Amino acid sequence: MAESGPSEPSETTPQLVEANSATRALNILGDRWALVILYLAFLGIKRFEDFKTRIGLARSLLIDRLRRLHKAGVLETVVYQERPVREEYRLLPMGRDLYRLALMIIRWEKRWFYDAENPAHRLKHRCGHEFTPEFRCGHCNELVSPRDVYAEPGPGAGFDPAPPPRVQRRSVVPGGNLNGGNPMLDRAFQVLGDRWTSHVIASAFMGRRRFGDFLTALGVAPNILADRLSRLVELGVLRKELYQQRPDRWEYRLTDQGRDLYPLIAELNRWGDKWLDGGLGPPLITYHRPCGHVLEPKITCDQCHQEVAPPDISPRLG
Ligand SMILES: [Zn+2]
Ligand SMILES: [Zn+2]
Repeated sequence: MAESGPSEPSETTPQLVEANSATRALNILGDRWALVILYLAFLGIKRFEDFKTRIGLARSLLIDRLRRLHKAGVLETVVYQERPVREEYRLLPMGRDLYRLALMIIRWEKRWFYDAENPAHRLKHRCGHEFTPEFRCGHCNELVSPRDVYAEPGPGAGFDPAPPPRVQRRSVVPGGNLNGGNPMLDRAFQVLGDRWTSHVIASAFMGRRRFGDFLTALGVAPNILADRLSRLVELGVLRKELYQQRPDRWEYRLTDQGRDLYPLIAELNRWGDKWLDGGLGPPLITYHRPCGHVLEPKITCDQCHQEVAPPDISPRLG
């Protein structure tokens, strides 16, 4: 395979990787089913059987995913009936704070894969218009592009254990009769909903391009990395470019569609900074170059340019 060769590291997987909040967030959210569950929770689904009908996932897998989200502090269980005991799942503040990530997922899907049949693509803002959410700097109010930001180590800078291997060892295969025929945000879920795929993208935004750089940054097995890189090329998020001949060496760069995932990664970072910093403060601080301020993102409506908050949106999202 072109990716492996004498100049690529072949030592065993490193145990520690540079700490960053997007990676921490993806350790919880970088799973297709976790994303689908959260999406349905935002649409108001609470009960196990309702999740089950809509997702069409085996009972044991659904229970496992709900438990993980519960353990992470994203969902709580509330008994709504005593005999027999029945519980429902509700979003905790940490989970409700993901509505911004959901909006950024919708933004990306809508911009690149618009489907008039998908209700999520036809969200209405309180201004009464169907809208596409925008990602702006809270200080200068300009749209934020990944070229306009840079990061510096923050008080929580350091190292985290490499993401542990998990159940899902192969990248998600698209299509089929997933989700019980409910319209979902499939493209974004394919990109974010596989833990290594999403980690590779987050890493690409940190400037990594070469096989060996991804390997070191992620602590991932080389065969898994090779699989995810080609998957992302197939999905149109990365493109492969020759940077050396004889032997051929390739680097992976974000395409326009890939670069447009920046607001998702920035939202994962914001969420991770807020909920997963272990009390140490953010590992990285992002600055908006044009205004020089720390980036505090703001999500706005492209129709009326006002800020978007959960009660403003229909269908219900948060
Ligand atoms: Zn700014
Ligand atoms: Zn509006």
